[in-house]
This record gives sequence, structure tokens and C-alpha cells, in this order.
Amino acid sequence: MRSRSAPMNCTTSIVTVRSLREPRGLGAGHDVPQFSIHRGRLQSVIHRAVEERLGKDLIHTGCRLGAFAQHEGGVIAHFFDRTGAHIKTAQGDVLIGADGIHSRVREMLFPDEGPPSWNGLMLWRGARDWPAFLTGSSMIVAGGLNAKVVVYPIAEGSSPASRLTNWAVLVKVGDNNAQPPRREDWSRLGKREELMPHVARFSVPHVDARSLISATPNFMNTLLRPRSAPVLDLGRVTLLGDAAHPMYPVGSNGASQAILDARHWPTRWPMPNIRARRCSL
Ligand SMILES: Cc1cc2nc3c(=O)[nH]c(=O)nc-3n(C[C@H](O)[C@H](O)[C@H](O)COP(=O)(O)OP(=O)(O)OC[C@H]3O[C@@H](n4cnc5c(N)ncnc54)[C@H](O)[C@@H]3O)c2cc1C
Repeated sequence: MRSRSAPMNCTTSIVTVRSLREPRGLGAGHDVPQFSIHRGRLQSVIHRAVEERLGKDLIHTGCRLGAFAQHEGGVIAHFFDRTGAHIKTAQGDVLIGADGIHSRVREMLFPDEGPPSWNGLMLWRGARDWPAFLTGSSMIVAGGLNAKVVVYPIAEGSSPASRLTNWAVLVKVGDNNAQPPRREDWSRLGKREELMPHVARFSVPHVDARSLISATPNFMNTLLRPRSAPVLDLGRVTLLGDAAHPMYPVGSNGASQAILDARHWPTRWPMPNIRARRCSL
């Protein structure tokens, strides 16, 4: 850890700037490396693993869960297409709702719960080919809970000296009781004129974050809305990942927690033998 005191441009103020360097993964003595990976690539890895382990015929796309019913012997789930037409009914021993922050499974289990709260945090994020910095796999986290910028590589770049570099700017733009301006939507394009005044506040060592962000042609903007009460086991129906416990993304806790849920639930589900059976669709 390095720490230094830097005089500001007036004679009476001293600001302490701290720079903390922390090894991760194998470098931190763990048994496994830490990976940063592009979201689309991670989904491809999972897709291939599901095909290899369970078979291609078990993946059905374009099916939106609309309703389900539990009974003593199992669960029946009804799926619809984009137009609202019923397309499939599935029967199985259990139902796992891994359907994200706007979980339909959660909504059916708790119809009076309402949407998640908002504490004023807004997130912008994008990725661009950019010169590698520090080790080439380093992550920079600068700022605090009210304003933060995070920069890290998520894939190789167009040349050995560059990386596909992900950036995220997280800013508290409203107070704890603020009304969200809209429903969160991960696919909403961000507006440069809204983002850049926040970016101007950051001066980050080792990488020119302002130039990186300015040079990113398109980027996303979303609200962040966690839920305080996680929900897990509910008889034959359970929730996983953001459906169970959407969190503010800090240190990649969101996706990591969803993966841990998936690893954990088969070992603690109260009914034996469920892993040996497939649902019929
Ligand atoms: C802007 C942003 C940046 C983030 N960055 C990071 C990061 O860098 N690192 C990190 O670890 N986490 C990050 N997170 C959090 C992370 O993305 C989530 O925690 C994670 O994706 C949760 O996984 P999940 O499978 O529970 O839900 P999701 O990834 O949301 O997947 C839910 C799936 O269910 C589908 N679905 C929804 N409704 C239905 C329905 N009725 N029927 C059928 N299917 C349905 C959706 O189409 C979707 O495919 C970020 C989140 C946001 C919003």
C-alpha cells in the first residue's frame, strides 16, 4: 500500500491521496485465478457447458414464463412468446426462478411486494479497445460510494498492446427517498451530456479514464435498485441470483453471487433425488 500527502493549491488545505494496491486470485494466495470476462462470452461459456452436460434439446429460447402452479407432486409452468401467445407448458419437480431483477417468479410469489427501492445511484458503462495499463490485467477502482469509476480489461484487444477495456461510472444522483426517473433497463443507451460532467470529477492514475470514456461511441445507462430482503427456499420453487437478491454491483458481487447460489442450492434443497430427474417440456 502506498500513501502520500499532497498539498493542494491553497496554503492551508492538505488532502491525503491514498492508492491501495491489492493482489487478487492466485496472486492473493487463492487456489483459483480471478477472471474478468465479457458478459457475452460468459454466456457463451455457460451455454456450451449446458449443452455438453444436459443436451441441446433442453435449451428453449423465446419462452417467457407467465405463470406457474405448485402441487404436491411437482410444479407446472406456462410459457408465452413475445406476443403473449401461450407456447409451452412444462412440468417438473422444482422451479428455479433465475429470471433477474424483474423476476416473474418472484412477482407471483409476492404479488404485493412492489418494485425494488432506489437510493439514487445511477450507472453508466461501456467498453472500448484501449492501450493496456499496469500489468495488462489490472483493475482500477477510484472514488467511493457517492461517485466511483472502475476500469478493467475484459478481453484481448486489437493488438498485443491493447485490451477490450470495460469502464463503469457510478454516481449518486438522488437521495435515499428519490423517485426513480424510469424503470431500470440494462439496454438503455446513455447520453453523453448527462455523463461527462460526472466524469470530469475524476483524475485516475495509470489510465486516462476521461479519454477512454470520451472515445467510447456508445454506452449504457441504468438505475441500480437492490432489494433488502433476499428470498430463497419456497417449497418446490426457489429464486436464484438477482431474482432472489439484486445487489449494487461492488467487486462483481452480482454475477458471483448468482453463480454461488447455483452451486449451493442442489446440496441444500430439502427434497432428495431431484438432480436425477428432468422436467418434461
Ligand atoms: C449495468 C450493470 C452492470 C453490472 N456489472 C456487473 C459486473 O461487472 N460484475 C458482476 O458480477 N455483476 C455485474 N452486474 C450484476 C449482474 O449482471 C447480475 O447480478 C447478474 O446478471 C444476475 O444474474 P441472474 O442470472 O440472476 O439474472 P440476469 O442476468 O438478469 O438474467 C435473467 C434472465 O432471465 C430472463 N427472463 C426474465 N424474465 C423472464 C421470464 N418471465 N421468463 C423467462 N426468462 C426471463 C432474462 O431475459 C435474462 O436472460 C451488473 C448489473 C448491471 C445492471
